[in-house]
Amino acid sequence: MTAQVLDGKLVAALVKDEVRARTQALASRGVTVGLAVVLVGDDPASAVYVKAKTKDARECGIDATDHRLPADTSQAGLLALVAQLGADPRVHGILVQLPLPKHFDTDAIIAAIPPHKDVDGLHPENLGRVAQGKPRFTACTPAGCMRLLAHGGVTVAGASAVVLGRSVLVGKPMALLLANADATVTLCHSKTRDLAERVAAADIVIAAVGRSELVRGAWIKPGAAVIDVGINRGADGKLIGDVEYAAAAARAGVITPVPGGVGPMTRACLLENTVRAAELA
Ligand code: NAD
Repeated sequence: MTAQVLDGKLVAALVKDEVRARTQALASRGVTVGLAVVLVGDDPASAVYVKAKTKDARECGIDATDHRLPADTSQAGLLALVAQLGADPRVHGILVQLPLPKHFDTDAIIAAIPPHKDVDGLHPENLGRVAQGKPRFTACTPAGCMRLLAHGGVTVAGASAVVLGRSVLVGKPMALLLANADATVTLCHSKTRDLAERVAAADIVIAAVGRSELVRGAWIKPGAAVIDVGINRGADGKLIGDVEYAAAAARAGVITPVPGGVGPMTRACLLENTVRAAELA
């Protein structure tokens, strides 16, 4: 079997078309969708992400504004900016680019974003709503993975799903979304024994660990859906996922590449959350 490759760029383009139509509908009612992107410090990777997110947003008719603060900004200084953006009716979505410099209490910053403007879906209220099965904003990466599964025609209801990684950003909300969609979910992490056996029994594998090719191709159940969230750099500087791609693709039914799989979907789902925030306002 050779897997169908799920092209994240293609699916992201479809999502962006939908977002553009929705921003236009809002514009016809006099509403300009506003997204505030906050970047603290000068981490080069974060700067690249922020640039890409604002570019995407503008392409979809969203008024994206950049707020750059120096690395030595205080907790109180960042909280003041978040409060100002929270009170600004032109701003429908607020995104604070993570990771923040070490001296910040990140949880307190996220908790200070008004939940109805938390387009990253990381505020405890929004995570709690996902746990309740009544999501308002879903964390962008897990939302993107669900969209890719749908695009690949993967039946989630009744499937056996294994999620590798239990971060608040990816693994935990991913497991909840799959459970909400009626999969039977196993959430694996660094202390999990028998990882190979668990993966081998799965109809759906979501790898979100951050270790190059941890998931071996030989583990994959023939015909399984494999979604690779991992982004790792090889010795040659090339991006590598958490899955041994070629060997897994030889067994899987559908698979995402790295790059060009989940990454573009994460960005697209941020736009979807932002237009939703404006629609709900
Ligand atoms: P994290 O470091 O917060 O979490 C990693 C998780 O992996 C932990 O829960 C840990 O318990 C688990 N883990 C560690 N070793 C393991 C093992 N041997 N077996 C099973 N689980 C193990 O990372 P994160 O923020 O969740 O990100 C995970 C990966 O996804 C990273 O490579 C990150 O760069 C990538 N990522 C990609 C996107 C995207 O848009 N493509 C978005 C977010 C994160």
